[in-house]
Amino acid sequence: MSDYSIWMLEYAKVPDAAMSSLVYGKHNGGTVELPYCYTLLKGQGHTILLDCGLNNASHGEQFVKRFNVQNWFPPRDVLAEVGCTPEEVTHVILTHAHFDHMGGLELFPNATFYIQEEELASWVSIMTMDRRFRWLLTAVDTGDMIYAVQLAREGRMRGLRGDIDDVFPGVDVRLAKDTHTAASQYIVIRNDGKRESEDVFVYTGDLVYRHDNLHGGNPADPFYLPVGLASGSQTNLLMTTDSILKAVGDDMSRVLAPHEPSMASLYPSRVTKNGHQLVEVALGAGQQSYVH
Ligand SMILES: [Zn+2]
Repeated sequence: MSDYSIWMLEYAKVPDAAMSSLVYGKHNGGTVELPYCYTLLKGQGHTILLDCGLNNASHGEQFVKRFNVQNWFPPRDVLAEVGCTPEEVTHVILTHAHFDHMGGLELFPNATFYIQEEELASWVSIMTMDRRFRWLLTAVDTGDMIYAVQLAREGRMRGLRGDIDDVFPGVDVRLAKDTHTAASQYIVIRNDGKRESEDVFVYTGDLVYRHDNLHGGNPADPFYLPVGLASGSQTNLLMTTDSILKAVGDDMSRVLAPHEPSMASLYPSRVTKNGHQLVEVALGAGQQSYVH
């Protein structure tokens, strides 16, 4: 039996994202629909969100317009589909600080947030640079950084330093330094609780946008192809991709990528009344299914 229920929850989508923004070098690859998701873990007495989406208000609203984000619904509507409220979320692990992963800070009033120390520090540092470097802030809402620092002051934004096992029982974080961002992290869920787990999932954040990044569009003879946006090293990104696949025993279906549209065909799923995919990756002991 699984320790945690795992739901991947779509909360918005971009109908016409350039393929080149998702997969490195696909310059004439046209556009594709791009889902935006976060992932909820429920079990072991915890309700844990992996990334927290965006807030379609003030600064966040500008990003919604800039990236043509459609069909955004607030966490109250999205979480209701799995019988949960934003107030019940007690912990949020942030993979990195981009607007569509950390922009929802204000919407979880009881949560403590966890991020790699260097990730937050690096963005504050980049904000002090000359205006000519503003490309570095392409996907960063500086308003989120100010709010994140305020949360740190209140003790609700906690810095993690490097790889940490059992941040919560069976949930490990792994630092991917100098990759998609300065200090992204991915999250390993050992859903049987065992150290040598036979039931592992990895939530990638943006270290892997889509499974194309794992197989290069050629599953028969796969090669790693980095995501379309990285402020760090492409080589480090590929090394991280390799580590992620090793962690799941090369089973790509266990790589939970927040921008992968096919997750819904790999696990039980349904379309919600708001037109979002709800993917039930695992169901914890004694917990109710929300896809049937
Ligand atoms: Zn990102």
